[in-house]
Amino acid sequence: MTKAKTYKGKPCKRGHDGTRYTSGGECVECNKARQQTPEYKAYKKARKQTPEYKAYEKARQQTPEYKAYGKAYRLRVQEGVLKLLGW
Ligand SMILES: [Zn+2]
Repeated sequence: MTKAKTYKGKPCKRGHDGTRYTSGGECVECNKARQQTPEYKAYKKARKQTPEYKAYEKARQQTPEYKAYGKAYRLRVQEGVLKLLGW
């Protein structure tokens, strides 16, 4: 996912410096803080259990991009292990 662009606006009600997302205008710091809450983490976890998400994830793993990424990742891991072993 590409990161939404930000702009400087009014400081938010929690006193952050006013860096906001251009879409929605939410305070960047507040957004970050929200993602650290147990509620948000529980929400994300629950979302991953839905059939919709599983179907999406399965479809995503069929894309050539995903497969290429997985292959590259495994190769990197393998090289790292070999290096560790001193080969
Ligand atoms: Zn804020």
